Amino acid sequence: MAKAASKVTAFKTSDTMLIENARAAMKNAYAPYSDFKVGAAILLKDGRVFTGCNVENASYGLTICAERNAIFAAVAASKRKPEIVAVAVLNHRGVACSPCGACRQVIAEFGPKAVVSYLGAGGIVTRTMKELLVDGFELK
Ligand SMILES: [Zn+2]
Repeated sequence: MAKAASKVTAFKTSDTMLIENARAAMKNAYAPYSDFKVGAAILLKDGRVFTGCNVENASYGLTICAERNAIFAAVAASKRKPEIVAVAVLNHRGVACSPCGACRQVIAEFGPKAVVSYLGAGGIVTRTMKELLVDGFELK
């Protein structure tokens, strides 16, 4: 018998700041091919917030997601490995859209205990990385 579906944790009003940062970044998305603009914001343990948007390319496979752009910006601006405590993701169509598998793996690298808020079918949902990425890849 399969284990019960993971629970959706309550959205906290303290997450509003991160959501608003994601919304602002979303407006800068470069998505001429899909017309699907995504914005992400990450909160680091040291209190810094980084944002990213999706950036598409005529060679579709080169497109990169908002979440990874935010994380890579944080890495570029950090002397030490950044530690992600929370992530927020929004899209301009207002449809349910959780982080893709590649982004989940990258979030896990820098925030294995992070909570991730995104637009679900019934509004914003918040899940832990353990819920979003079961048995993620680790190189040890
Ligand atoms: Zn992604």
